[in-house]
Amino acid sequence: MFLPTTPQEVAARGWDQLDVILVTGDAYIDSPFIGVSVIGRVLADVGYRVGIIAQPDIHGPDDITRLGEPALFWGVSGGSIDSMVANYTALGKPRRSDDYTPGGRNNRRPDRAVIVYTNLIKRYVKGTPQRPAPPIVLGGVEASLRRVAHYDAWDDALRRSILLDAKADYLIYGMAEETVLAFADALRFSDSPRRLRGLCYVDETPRKGYLELPSYEEVVESKQAFTEMFHTFYQNSDPRSARGLTQRYANRHLIHNPPAPYLSQKRLDEVYALDYERDAHPYYAKQGAIKALETITFAVNTHRGCYGECNFCAIGVHEGRTVRWRSPESIEAEARDLTHRPEFKGIIQDVSAPTVNMYGFECPKKLRQGPCQDRRCLYPDVCPTLPVDHSHHQELLQRLRNLPGVKKVFVSSGLRHDLLLDDEAHGEEYLQEVVEHHVSGQMKVAPEHSEEHVLEAMGKPGSESLLEFRERFFEATEKAGKQQFLTYYFIAAHPGCTEADMHRLREFAVSELGMLPEQVQIFTPTPSTYASLMYYTETNPFTSEPIYVEKRFKGKRRQKRILTSR
Ligand code: SF4
Repeated sequence: MFLPTTPQEVAARGWDQLDVILVTGDAYIDSPFIGVSVIGRVLADVGYRVGIIAQPDIHGPDDITRLGEPALFWGVSGGSIDSMVANYTALGKPRRSDDYTPGGRNNRRPDRAVIVYTNLIKRYVKGTPQRPAPPIVLGGVEASLRRVAHYDAWDDALRRSILLDAKADYLIYGMAEETVLAFADALRFSDSPRRLRGLCYVDETPRKGYLELPSYEEVVESKQAFTEMFHTFYQNSDPRSARGLTQRYANRHLIHNPPAPYLSQKRLDEVYALDYERDAHPYYAKQGAIKALETITFAVNTHRGCYGECNFCAIGVHEGRTVRWRSPESIEAEARDLTHRPEFKGIIQDVSAPTVNMYGFECPKKLRQGPCQDRRCLYPDVCPTLPVDHSHHQELLQRLRNLPGVKKVFVSSGLRHDLLLDDEAHGEEYLQEVVEHHVSGQMKVAPEHSEEHVLEAMGKPGSESLLEFRERFFEATEKAGKQQFLTYYFIAAHPGCTEADMHRLREFAVSELGMLPEQVQIFTPTPSTYASLMYYTETNPFTSEPIYVEKRFKGKRRQKRILTSR
């Protein structure tokens, strides 16, 4: 059964009030792939009465007040994607489509959705001295990656923590299941939630024992101070090693508690075993088809986190740099459930994760102490301490494809080719099986560029590993007697990249890959990534050397055209 989204559904459960109302910028899709749905299910599972208001009309009170006022708190999320990324292309043009909106037209998610929804609640839900309005808690990707001062490409300026801009009460960052449960319990027992890990709030004074980040005023004044701030923020994002942080904004202080511990495998399995409908709520489904369902309905998520640390990606800051994986039994049980759905046609569309071939192994040192501060797990080379072993994922894929009713299991998510090449014991066999059983004609790889200094700015492996992987892929394809191809993903206008670099990338693509790529994205400086820091400061934060940054839309477009023009 879906969580209620209409007053009739609340009444049908015999409830006179909800404990928690979640507001989101996506349509309500009840799926383990959708953060708001997971949070709602986790709360409901222990007995909280939870309702969801998805994509509320922001022009009046009707939508936002339709479920009344929650007894405990409002939870506000911009949805699965930062609203500015969802609403604008890398060249600043409005996006016409939205995969999370019924009918696919991008007309429901406001810019800066987290701030707009918080204001909407405050405008129409007023407390009284006897009965103060319930607190508003921010969560999801947009809030999580904007939780401290950050560069915002759409303003081309540093913005304050979104908690101050939205004037909400709390912010829960990262993967929020345990923090949100503890938060609800704290409010229920009239306890202060301020001690909870994974939580931010604003106070009059800094918190004792916490590391003080350069203040907002300092980082606006000095790019060097912003760089120092970002390094400290980044290095304090793992639960095993992070300290609490504070940041001053004029006469107030953002208090950033250390991250919540990662979920144990048992708990992760429990979260994925909750009773998701894996569909859009009928209230939204009747408004039109929701494209995201095409890719998530028959997909299974296997793990969280990524230690790839590509500089343009924020997954490490949001989900963590430690990979945590579900047990094979839990994944198999979910896949088995999929086979019982009437619409299942025998195909599991994706065995999915941020980087799919990180399943089943982690660095023992990192598990004890947190990630190294002075080196990365995969760049410039795969760290020898990482026990790379693709046999776990291989066995998992075998289990899934042998399930009754399953005809095909595809791996559509990204695969790190350098990691695969590093696995002398199982890499080749794994690739052979993936090629034989789990590729639907095209396998995606994301080299992103060919030029050494651009790859260095991205934190990506050199092109020799791509070429070696390519050779192995085609050998495996031939051995399997199949006609399969590689689809390459590239980025134009990343910090460090000039037009001359794009010309060299074109030559590389033609001479070494034998094609001209179609999958070319223009770099978008999204909040809280190292690449955005480079974009803003025009300096390499690891070497302090100046770095070329293409900031003109025309120049960015030209970079892309150099690679794509026929
Ligand atoms: S020892 Fe190597 S694999 Fe482990 S955290 Fe450090 S860099 Fe990563």
